Amino acid sequence: MIVDLVLSNAKAYLDSKILGCSLAINQGKILKIGKESNMPRAQTKIDLKNLLVLPGLIDAHVHLRDEGKAYKEDFYTGTAAAAAGGITTVLDMPNNKPVTMSVETLRRRTKIAERKILVNVGFYSEFPKNMKEIREIVTEGAVAFKLFMSEQIGGLNVDDDYALREALEIVSDVEAPVAVHAEDKTTLQEAEDELRQNNCNGIEAFLKAHSENVEATAVKRLLRIARQTAAHVHFCHISTENGLRAIIDGKNSGIIVTCETTPHHLFLSVDDLRRIGTLALTTPPLREKHHLAALWLGIKNKRIDILASDHAPHTLGEKKAKSIWDVKVGISGLETTLPLLLTQVKHGRLSIADVVRLMSEEPAEIFGLGDRGCLKEGNNADIVVVDLKKKHKIDASKFHSKAKYSPFNGWNVEGTPVQTFVGGRLIMDEGEIVAEAGSGGIIRRE
Ligand SMILES: [Zn+2]
Repeated sequence: MIVDLVLSNAKAYLDSKILGCSLAINQGKILKIGKESNMPRAQTKIDLKNLLVLPGLIDAHVHLRDEGKAYKEDFYTGTAAAAAGGITTVLDMPNNKPVTMSVETLRRRTKIAERKILVNVGFYSEFPKNMKEIREIVTEGAVAFKLFMSEQIGGLNVDDDYALREALEIVSDVEAPVAVHAEDKTTLQEAEDELRQNNCNGIEAFLKAHSENVEATAVKRLLRIARQTAAHVHFCHISTENGLRAIIDGKNSGIIVTCETTPHHLFLSVDDLRRIGTLALTTPPLREKHHLAALWLGIKNKRIDILASDHAPHTLGEKKAKSIWDVKVGISGLETTLPLLLTQVKHGRLSIADVVRLMSEEPAEIFGLGDRGCLKEGNNADIVVVDLKKKHKIDASKFHSKAKYSPFNGWNVEGTPVQTFVGGRLIMDEGEIVAEAGSGGIIRRE
């Protein structure tokens, strides 16, 4: 038998240990992991020179934009950024133009993506107007649902507890998780309206409106509703100590709840937002330092389940609007996440096992991504090769993403993804994209 590819001289993260081995890959799958002498003959052989081999990262929170927002990012540039960052699967958020919230919008989006993507892409859907369509959307392939509690984006009235409960009941029947942007709409709007009336248009006003209370209020409200259902609720980008505490209480009381935080909420504080300005504006915003400590503790105690970039690209013009209320929130994150995490491995704050758990194993588990998230025979050959010693300075002007800005611009990092394989195909080599558009696959919920 002649297989497609053998990766020789790997130091691979296998079953919680890093072991010297070779990997044989055929038809997109990992066929065999073992000694070089046991490898079958291969069409292509790559000597990895003892570099670290990890399961490709799964980024569960990405805004790939495209369609009506292609000027910010498109499927090609977004997935090129993912590949450059060692990320082999992304889950795409639904707040697009048009909003992904029906069989038709999901089908069209999938069709456009197919021709352009370089990594695997799964899609979130917003809730439809007619809750009966939830099943059809899942059948069409949506991986999960997204619920923005900060404003109504899909068809669901987020002020209505009964409607929320109904939606959660239906998604629990079809076993799809619901990812939640937890900021309470009423609290947020009241504060924002008052600040706007008083001509408060700066960063301090934004921080006042998007207070820590806004997050905890939304988390607690949704958990009260989720408690009456069997839904799996996943809280996105948790940023506060109180928000995290409410989630931990929910976990302890038996609600099916998981959560994520982002590199920017772990590494940056409100002081960085004040220093950098609106380029670093996100929702939820960067927080006071004691929240960072609480999040790090949550990582250490494994109460935070996953990390995700919340890659949310905009144009520079949109980031520099005059009034804070017009500034588009979000940053480019696909190309900085893994290097930032590997730098923490170097400093001893994270282990390789933590990185794999938070960005491969757990996202695969939470979002039901089947044969992904760990390196083992039979799994998809989604692989990232990492040079732990390779240093670089983050340079946002070199991003593959259209959003060439980052609050981490100029940071020195140690640990760089040097090769990314998706379904056994080499997509990124030493920072260059070496595959054709359309090399990635669409992930549908099984
Ligand atoms: Zn987001």
